Amino acid sequence: MTTYFTAEYTCAVCGRTHKFRVVGSTNSFGSPDLDLRPAPMQRDTIHTWVQTCPDCGYSNGKIDRDTSVDKKWLSRESYRNCEGTAFISGLAKKFYQAYMVNLHDGKTERAADHLVYCAWACDDAHDIQNAVKVRGMAADLYEEVLKTDDSEATKLMRMDLLRRSGRFEQLQSEYETVTFSDELHDKIAAFQKKLAKAHDTDCYCVGDVLTQTE
Ligand SMILES: [Zn+2]
Repeated sequence: MTTYFTAEYTCAVCGRTHKFRVVGSTNSFGSPDLDLRPAPMQRDTIHTWVQTCPDCGYSNGKIDRDTSVDKKWLSRESYRNCEGTAFISGLAKKFYQAYMVNLHDGKTERAADHLVYCAWACDDAHDIQNAVKVRGMAADLYEEVLKTDDSEATKLMRMDLLRRSGRFEQLQSEYETVTFSDELHDKIAAFQKKLAKAHDTDCYCVGDVLTQTE
């Protein structure tokens, strides 16, 4: 089971202190999705992965995290309205704002991670259109991350984002000759290419790869 407690955080932008729910402990039963979204119950703690200061609107994983943004930057219309993206889910909006903050801070990978969380919140709210849009943005941002960090997990994440945002041809051409050192990673990549060929945008988990490639 998951346990929660309440903790106080002081906003790095306005200096005010607020209480937030924090995960004490959780667990995960089952395999993660192909974009590494954890299985329940960890999956269900998503609402604790972002905090928004009720006073100044600063959103980040934790509001006490140092940032280069200030109150004026946070009061801009583009931040307040998520660059014109009308999310159905309030949680998706918070993740999108955390993406904007981290991008401004030059934390590209963290910004991309928040876009992925934003897509998951959209999935949960059945906000399909914005889920596709945000996945496409995350795929482009991880391309930047991969220029300096050649991680296989990031490549696999990017394959899933490309496929689930409908960029099948790009996935197939970019990853046609890419090989992975890890056997499971290679199987996942082959599975992704097969799905892309079939223009399949559904959500799959790592367990599906094992049962469908044996
Ligand atoms: Zn604040």
